[in-house]
Formats: sequence, C-alpha cells, structure tokens
Amino acid sequence: MHKKGSVRNYLLIHCMLREHYPIVSARYIQLDNGSDIVSVRLVSNRFFFLIFMLLLGVPLEVGASLPAPEKQRNTTYSNAVSIESLRERALALYKKGDYKQAISTFLAISKILEDQAQEADLSTLGRTYTYIAQSYKRLKLREETAAFYRKALATYKRIDSKRNIARTLNTLAEAERYLGNLDTSLNLVMESLRIHGTIDDEEGKAKAHMGASIILRHIENYELSLEHLKLAYAYFKRENNAVGTAKTANEIAHLYGRLASFEEAKSFYEVALQYPADQLPPATIATALRELAEIEVIASNFQKARSYAKRAMAIYETLNAPEKKTAVFRIIGDSYQGEDNLNQAIYNYQASLDIANQLDNDLFRVKALLPVGNVYLKQDLVKSERAFKTALTFSKDLKNKTYRLAALKGLREVYTATGQFQDALEFAEKELALTEQIQSENSDKLLEIAKAKLLSFKLENEVEALKEQTRLDELEIARKNNEIEISRKEQQIANLQLSKERYAKIMLSLIVIVLVTIALALYRSYVTSRRKNEKLHYLATHDSLTECFNRRYLFDSLRSLFAQAPASHSGCLVMIDIDHFKKINDDFGHNVGDDALRGVAHVLRQNISDGDVLARFGGEEFCMVLHNTSLEDAMAVSEKVRAQMENHTFGKIKLTCSIGVTSLAFGASSPTELIEQADKALFFSKANGRNQVNAYSAT
Ligand code: GH3
Ligand code: MG
Ligand code: MG
Repeated sequence: MHKKGSVRNYLLIHCMLREHYPIVSARYIQLDNGSDIVSVRLVSNRFFFLIFMLLLGVPLEVGASLPAPEKQRNTTYSNAVSIESLRERALALYKKGDYKQAISTFLAISKILEDQAQEADLSTLGRTYTYIAQSYKRLKLREETAAFYRKALATYKRIDSKRNIARTLNTLAEAERYLGNLDTSLNLVMESLRIHGTIDDEEGKAKAHMGASIILRHIENYELSLEHLKLAYAYFKRENNAVGTAKTANEIAHLYGRLASFEEAKSFYEVALQYPADQLPPATIATALRELAEIEVIASNFQKARSYAKRAMAIYETLNAPEKKTAVFRIIGDSYQGEDNLNQAIYNYQASLDIANQLDNDLFRVKALLPVGNVYLKQDLVKSERAFKTALTFSKDLKNKTYRLAALKGLREVYTATGQFQDALEFAEKELALTEQIQSENSDKLLEIAKAKLLSFKLENEVEALKEQTRLDELEIARKNNEIEISRKEQQIANLQLSKERYAKIMLSLIVIVLVTIALALYRSYVTSRRKNEKLHYLATHDSLTECFNRRYLFDSLRSLFAQAPASHSGCLVMIDIDHFKKINDDFGHNVGDDALRGVAHVLRQNISDGDVLARFGGEEFCMVLHNTSLEDAMAVSEKVRAQMENHTFGKIKLTCSIGVTSLAFGASSPTELIEQADKALFFSKANGRNQVNAYSAT
C-alpha cells in the first residue's frame, strides 16, 4: 500500500479483502532504518485484486512502506510471499544504488530466514548475506563486507554447496585483502581454487584466478600473479567474453610493465584495441591507450606516445574522469620533455596540476609538480625551486615517501646549481634521513612481503601438487578405462572376426559339400540313367542269349534300309537255319543247344562288316543284312559261312546250316517281302538236302 494511503485505508482494504477473498497474505516487517513494510498479496488472483483496488480508488503498491499499526502485528501471513516481495524490493534498491536501504531490506529477509533454517531457505539466506556483503562493499565498509561474506560462507558450508563455497571464499579473500590481511586472503583464495579444482564452475574458477593474481601482485609475487591472470585470460578468450578478455589483458600487461617486459606489456595492451570499441567499456580501452602511451615514452617513440595519449584523453573527456586526465597530461608532458620541447612539457604538466588542484589531491599535485621542477632545473632555477618546494609541502602527508625524497633531491640540485651549498647540504642531510627511514620501513614491509611470498609459494605448490595428483589420477583412470575399453573392443573384434571366419569356413565347406553332393548326385543319376537307357536300349534291340540284334531291330534296320535306298538295288538279306537242331537238343540237352546257338552267332559275327546287321530271327534262325553288297558277294559270304559251320566244332558237337539269300535287286517292296524271299530260298536249301546255299530267284 502506498505511503499516501493511511492506516485506515489499509485496514479497510484488508478487512474487505479478507471478507470476500480469504486467501490474502499480509505482513509487517520493521526495518533497521525505522520504516515499516507491509507486504500484501492476493494469492488466488492478483489481477482480480488489482481491479478491486482500482474500484476502491485506493493508490496501492504491493510491498510498499507505511507505518504499521501496532495491533496488526500479529496478522497471519505467508513468509514465502513476503520474502519474495521483499526480495524484489531489495534487489530494486540494490540496482538503483541505494545500498543502505537495500541492506536493511536484505537484513529483514535474513532475519525471517534465520528463524526457519530449512535447507531450501539456507541457500536463499546465503545469497541474501552475499547481497548484504556486496552492498557494504559498495559503501566501502570493509569490516562489514568481510563479516557478511563470512556469514554467507558459513551458511553455504551448512548445505555443503561447493560452488557457492568456492565463489564466496574468493569474494571473502578480496574483502580480507582490503582489510590488509594478506595471509588470510591468500589462504582463502587458494582454498577457493582447491575447491574449484573439484567442481565444474569455469567462471567461478576464472574469478578465483583473478583474485589470486591480485593478492599475489600485492605481495609482489608478480610471476605467480601473472600465471593466475593468464589462466583467467584463457577462460575469457574461450568464452569469447570481450570485456573479460580485454580487462584481463590489461592486467597482464600491467604486470609485464612492472616486470619491465615492455614488449609483452605492449602486446597485451593492444588486445583491448583489437575489439570494436562498442564491445568494451570505454574505460578499458582508455586504460590500454594510456598505458601504451607510457610505454612508447619509455621507448622514445614520443609522437606515437602522444597519439595514444590523445585518444585516451578523448575517452576520459567523455567519461568525465579528471583524475585520469591528470595522468594523461603528465604522459604528454613526459613525451615533450623527451623531445626537449620544454614549453610544451611545462604546459601539459601545468594542465595536470590544474586538475589536481581542482580535485584537491596532494598525490596528483606532487606528481605534476616534480617534473615541472625538473624541467625548470635547466631553464629557470627560481621556478624550479618554487615547484620543488610546493611538491615538498604537498608530499608531507603522502604514504609513499619516495615523492618527498624526489622533492628534497630536486631542492638539493637547485641549491647546488645556485651555489647555496649550505642549503644544499641541509637538504642532502634531510634526504639521507628520509632514505634511512624509507629503508627501515621497506625492510619491515619487505619482511611481511617475504613472509607472504613464502606462504604463497607453499600454497601454490600444494595446489599444484593437488592438481597434478588429481590430474594424474584422472589420467591414470582414464588410461586404464581406455585400456580396458580397447582390450574389450579388441576382444569383441577378434571374436567377431573369429566367428566370421569360422562361419565363412563352415559356410564355404557346406556350400562345397552341397555343391559336390548335388553334382555327384546329378552325375550319378545321369550316368545311371544313361546306363539304364543304354541297357534298356540294348535289351530292347538285342537277343539276350546270343547277343545278336533281335527280330524287332532287324525289322527297324530293314525299314530304314528301304527308306534310305529303296531303288539302289544294292544290299542283301541272308537267312541261316541250323540243321536238325531239335536233335541236338534232344541228344545233348538244352544247355549244349544254347552253347551251340552262341557259337553259331560268333561264327556269323566274324563274317559281317561294320554297319551290317546280324540278328537272331527266332529259335535257331539268324539273319544277316549286308549293305551295299551284291548278290554274288552275299552268296560268297554265305558259302564261306556254311563251310565254316561245317568245319567248326561247337564244344563237342558238329553241325551244319542251310542258308537262303535274297537281294533288293529282286524287287521286294517291303521288309516282310524281303524276308519272305530269303525264307523261300532257305526252304529250298532245306528241301534240297540241307547244308547248302541258295539264292532267291524272281522266277
Ligand atoms: P530242320 O533241319 O528241318 O530245320 O530240323 P530241325 O529240328 O532243326 O527243325 P525244327 O523246327 O523242327 O526244330 C527246331 C528246334 O529248335 C525246336 C526247338 O526245341 C529248338 N529250339 C528253338 N529255340 C531253341 C533255343 O533257344 N534253345 C535250344 N536249346 N533249342 C531251341
Ligand atoms: Mg528252324
Ligand atoms: Mg532247323
């Protein structure tokens, strides 16, 4: 509710709301600054709530302050809701830069959360402490800053939030550094880095490296500081974070400058200039330009130095940063002094001094006055004396006594030059005393630094050893895992290969076996069937006893003879019949008869040519088909056969044959007719006394 609204307004609204909408939360919180906050929230429907308020005509603002009535302090409320609205308010204040108000609001939140101590709230509580610490940091209240970072750290430790612990250790380290507790600071930042080594928070880790580098720079361990900075730099580059990269580059360059490695310093300052100007804060670019200018002065590139310096100056002009301008004027002055352009040098130192006077800053005054005194040493000793004397006055309260020493030295030189030796001697003695003082202070400081340096080396070594150990362990584990994985894979591959080969072999032999079997089966069946066919054919065409062609084959061959050469008239048929064969069977038995039949067939076969046909016509009768044979030749063959039969001994027995011969020349028109002719001729031989050959005659 708005401040303008009264307590009455609040009560009216509150009562009406509670009547119609019971789910309303409201809370009073008293802040440190004395003001009270009333947080009201319609949980069910915020929109409806606002409409309702508008209808009532009440200016209203959720979470706004108004003095809270005493009797309403016990109103029931929802913490979650009031914390949320308080947080919004606190953050808005923080962003606005109203750190005091922000702190008191954050403190109110922390008080509510401290009572609850639930895990979920602890992380919010830690964050709230962090905001308080940050606000105190902005207000430059160092003790409070450190105190609240410590509270945040303790809270994060309760919930073991590694990331937050690591980050807070680093911010606390910074706070301790501001308090001058360099040892503590260093310990904290190293602890932060140690934890960052175990978690995945690259950004936090980079920040811790930055923190470490700053502390190390403070204890003048520049080399180590540089290493940490470079790690942070690498992170920003990886992240393509232009601002982070450029700022870290500037820091690195600054350290190189401290180490008098000006080439390296230059190259890192140039990083900021490589980005488009709109990607970086102008101050970052200006720093790089200013420092480059200073390096160029050292390198006696005075014009180049001035060109950088002027660019820096232009930026500081727009940023309205007079304290930076004093420095740039000094650099420009130095560049002119380098060129022995004393007027221009004085002019720029004077400009620097003017700003220092405006700022009422003694350090800047002394820094401008000392070079003025030095320039005038060659020109105008009165002015030189005046400059050094003023510098001496302003250097009285400066922490850094070297400026005072420089002023004393300047005055001694002035008085030496003017011949005022008494005065010169006086200042020389002052110089000596101050030098002794500086030296004794420095030795104290050096001792402190040496102590811190030793500690830093020790811690760094520990961290390195830890990191190295973790890295080695990780590497070892990774290597082992790899080995296991590789051998597992190899085994798998080998197994696969083996089973593949085995499979291939089995398959191949199977295929071969199957193919060979099939081929063999095919071949065998082919051979068998061919043999069968041959046998069948043989059986179909041959006489089984004598192995001559049978009667059917005789007729087939006669038919083909008639088909081939019916009119050629060459070709004869000879019919042979064994004489009184019945008697042979009767006298010697059937087996002897069979042997005689085989013997007769053998004799006949010896008397025919290739292509001619010898067939068993039936019983003890045989036929010979003589192709391309004249009747005379056939008669001659037949006679020869007859004679051989007569002379041959068939086992134990003797026999004779009767033969009838016919030729195609006698005009038979068919195989049957030809056979009839031969049969007639044979009949004639039988009738005519047997054991003789006769030809068929057409007559
Ligand atoms: P011819 O001089 O008049 O021809 O007198 P033949 O006894 O030879 O004639 P026939 O026709 O009267 O008798 C033929 C005999 O041949 C009758 C039969 O027992 C015999 N014979 C026929 N086929 C076979 C056979 O395969 N084996 C044997 N052992 N005898 C057979
Ligand atoms: Mg017969
Ligand atoms: Mg016979």
